[in-house]
Amino acid sequence: MAIDPVIYFDGMSSRRRAAALVFADMLEIDAGDGAATRWAYADIRRADSPSGTLRVSCLTAPPLARLEIRDAAVAAELTSRCLGIDENYPSRRGVATIVGWSVAAAVSIIGVVFFGVPLAADRLAPLVPESFERRLGDVAERQVKLLFGDKVCSNPAGQQAFAKLVNALREPAGLDPSVQSAVLSTPIPNAFALPGGKVFLFDGLLAKAQNPDEIAGVLAHELGHLKHRDNMRGLIYNGGTSFLIGLLFGDITGSSALIFASRTLVTASHSREAEANADSFAINVMQRLGRSPKPMGELLFRVTGKEGGGLSILSGHPLTEDRLARMSREDQPAKGPPLLTPEEWQALKLICVTGSKV
Ligand SMILES: [Zn+2]
Repeated sequence: MAIDPVIYFDGMSSRRRAAALVFADMLEIDAGDGAATRWAYADIRRADSPSGTLRVSCLTAPPLARLEIRDAAVAAELTSRCLGIDENYPSRRGVATIVGWSVAAAVSIIGVVFFGVPLAADRLAPLVPESFERRLGDVAERQVKLLFGDKVCSNPAGQQAFAKLVNALREPAGLDPSVQSAVLSTPIPNAFALPGGKVFLFDGLLAKAQNPDEIAGVLAHELGHLKHRDNMRGLIYNGGTSFLIGLLFGDITGSSALIFASRTLVTASHSREAEANADSFAINVMQRLGRSPKPMGELLFRVTGKEGGGLSILSGHPLTEDRLARMSREDQPAKGPPLLTPEEWQALKLICVTGSKV
């Protein structure tokens, strides 16, 4: 009896490849391209499949990587070794997964056509219509609020000060008034931008800031990501294709693909080049306002020390020390008025304190 070949999708391209399996201390998948791919048994999970086929994914592999096994004996052998295979199942079952898979394959083909995914991301990002980008941002925002418990800080005086600061930055940044921004109450010292013009600042970063210019620099950096549409690029690049599919078919809440994708968004580590460009943008915006970019570097240094930790505004970013050095070189005496009065700055610091009087 002939044994049906095992089919392997590496999750990066749409190619289906015949593979040989070796049941060693890890599962070894040899798809004939030299080095075997190794999956830990504990990380292997069952994925949707037609009856008579075992299809599995791996938690540590690209999200769309799949292995298809039709041979019952091989399937039984694998299942017996993978103790966690049915964890999260059947919640992962869903139309979006199947539809996502095929459309993701199509998107991958585009990636291959354009000589590799990063280049494709650069070419595709400008093609994504703005209306779609906004919708993407809306969905990501809902996910963010789910993750952080919808704790938008709403102290009125603080909100006024925050709006004043964002508006002051928005104009020299060349962004229209549709930019939305909010401070979220969470102790994580972070800030990030979402597609469609949304900037979020975490209270944890505000708590560590000593003056408005420090926060202004960080916000200007995030506006730079918006301006350059880096998060769209990142989304396409980071395999957020399944996210796009979920949106296209309206299957949004409860889709594991989406949670994966918004995690990608929130913890997005943009490429170093994108980060350096956002820093340049921030330096430029601060200088146009007659303010120094150096305080931003000082804030990042205070938060992370030399290395730059695992926070999203910091990960993938150039080393904090280098950024501080760069911003110090661009230091200049203030020529423009302070961006906030001392009272407004105090109000902003207390934006997450409800009922406080300033
Ligand atoms: Zn950044």
